[in-house]
Amino acid sequence: MTKFIFVTGGVLSSLGKGITSASIATILKQSGQKVSMLKIDPYLNVDPGTMSPLEHGEVFVTADGAETDLDLGNYERFIDTTLSAQNNFTTGQVYQSVIKREREGGYLGKTIQVIPHVVDEIKDRIFAAAKGYEFLIVELGGTVGDIEGLPFMEAIREIRHELPKTNTMNIHVTLVPYISAAGELKTKPTQHSVQELRRIGITPHMIVCRTEKPLPKELKKKLAISCDIDNNAVIEAGDAQSIYQVPMNFLKEGILTPICEHFNINLKPNMEKWETLVKHIILPQEEVTIAFVGKYLDLKESYKSLTEALIHAGAHINAKINIHWCDSERIEDAGAYEVIQTCDAVLVAGGFGHRGVEGKLKAIEYARTNNIPYLGICLGMQLAVIEYARNVLGIEDANSVEFDPEAKNPLIYLIDEFLDQSGNKQVRTHESPMGGTMRLGEYPFTPKKGSKLQKAYGDKETYYERHRHRYEANPKYKEALEKAGMIISGESHGLIEAVELKDHKWFVGVQFHPEFTSHLETPNPIILEFVKQAAK
Ligand code: GLN
Repeated sequence: MTKFIFVTGGVLSSLGKGITSASIATILKQSGQKVSMLKIDPYLNVDPGTMSPLEHGEVFVTADGAETDLDLGNYERFIDTTLSAQNNFTTGQVYQSVIKREREGGYLGKTIQVIPHVVDEIKDRIFAAAKGYEFLIVELGGTVGDIEGLPFMEAIREIRHELPKTNTMNIHVTLVPYISAAGELKTKPTQHSVQELRRIGITPHMIVCRTEKPLPKELKKKLAISCDIDNNAVIEAGDAQSIYQVPMNFLKEGILTPICEHFNINLKPNMEKWETLVKHIILPQEEVTIAFVGKYLDLKESYKSLTEALIHAGAHINAKINIHWCDSERIEDAGAYEVIQTCDAVLVAGGFGHRGVEGKLKAIEYARTNNIPYLGICLGMQLAVIEYARNVLGIEDANSVEFDPEAKNPLIYLIDEFLDQSGNKQVRTHESPMGGTMRLGEYPFTPKKGSKLQKAYGDKETYYERHRHRYEANPKYKEALEKAGMIISGESHGLIEAVELKDHKWFVGVQFHPEFTSHLETPNPIILEFVKQAAK
């Protein structure tokens, strides 16, 4: 039977509940347990796919094509696994299922209520995600006291009531603020937050206290008494130099003892490899600087998976990756040389819409003509194709129909139909720019023999990477591009998945998002190779 750990948050948001959950999962996983994770988002959106990056940061895409919360990315990166649509759900999805069932007569004429119907749907989804695992870590988004969190709290309470005591554990992540004027750490917010939790019927078995200052022993004791938990289950969580250090910090705090006692098990994590990688992140041997060209630079969270993937690659070559953030609109005004000259390599990430595109094209031209390592991801590949067509093939009006629907030379175009992951025909139109028509999730590709792509990935026939885009490189121009020195190095059922340049040190564009499959322990091959080239 699966053991459940429910992680709730108190006092305020942004306390690092996701990293706390992922760190606990990592410790269990490194102890040989079969672990999975679930993120519950109490907002009403069905998924974050149509939310602006301003609202939500990155949309993380799972292998099976679900657009999910960015915490799922952290989970995969920490526990080195592949999650699915099942591992994240929202209030929107829960109500959608309940209402659909009601319309279909599935409730046999009953009055549909939050308790039991909505709560039952939540429990079903939690149990579905637990199937086949020894541990399921469930992180509830939001903070105790939020109105929209109540049905989920009730589901947690009921599961705890239904299962044997040693099968569920509640961990509450709170803040212990330091008031500098008084020179004191304050426990009151945590006490109130735990009181609120208990009012709903949940007494936590452990509290994880985010704090800027070390917690003195007496203060931990005070928290234990006032929150009615064991003395050894008040865990200090100070700020860490790297998020990947948190599992080790938790182990030093003795987090394993109360967990083992609670579940009545014995665990011995092997953190050797993990520790070496973290050491490389914190005390690296060398430094590499990468020009990261994008347009949401005030919103670095929207590139979360990519910045983490660079850290993973750096950890594997013992190098710190400095990211030099380059605003593409600044490049439009100041020129690429001004903005990029101090960098070892250029990266153009994915993006949507026309703003900033001309600056990205300039950055690409700069990398191409100066033999600087270049990696273009999704839009970054599409623009590399356009730049090459314009400046090498002489097709001055080469464009993407995303920016000019009437483009005479649509190097990047909209295919009318494509087969989705299940082989069903999907029709793409201009009229519905949001949702529904994107190519999402994992698709296979074959690297061309002898290409840089193959050198990075290996000799297998097929590899899989995840997608999130609407437009494709136009095969009509394939011959002309290849004649002029651009190699189509990766293909998938006739779709162009990767390009590179023959006469360049290292210039690669990929239509997929390699950052979604990068984990600390298993970095993504093409990003690792890019970082190696930058370090040369
Ligand atoms: N806007 C481009 C498309 O929809 C690229 C998307 C992306 O970079 N993720 O195809």
